[in-house]
Amino acid sequence: MRTPDAQTAACVFCAIVRGEAPATFVHQDEVVVAFMDIRPVQPGHLLVVPRAHAELIPELEAIADQIRPGTSQSDAPDISGR
Ligand SMILES: [Zn+2]
Repeated sequence: MRTPDAQTAACVFCAIVRGEAPATFVHQDEVVVAFMDIRPVQPGHLLVVPRAHAELIPELEAIADQIRPGTSQSDAPDISGR
């Protein structure tokens, strides 16, 4: 099992958040940063990245709850029929 330090040290997004990799920021707050993609699919393509390292969708849902409590998909009704 990798340690959190090893995960974040190898993550280019965490390096950008720490200011160790270059980026053109368009937004920064205590939860997320947004910056222009270096290889944009379309003009204006930007990335919104949580300040906390996340690898799996459930981790992102916890971060989404920090932004708007109670609005993450984990709180949505299950309509999958499973
Ligand atoms: Zn990361």
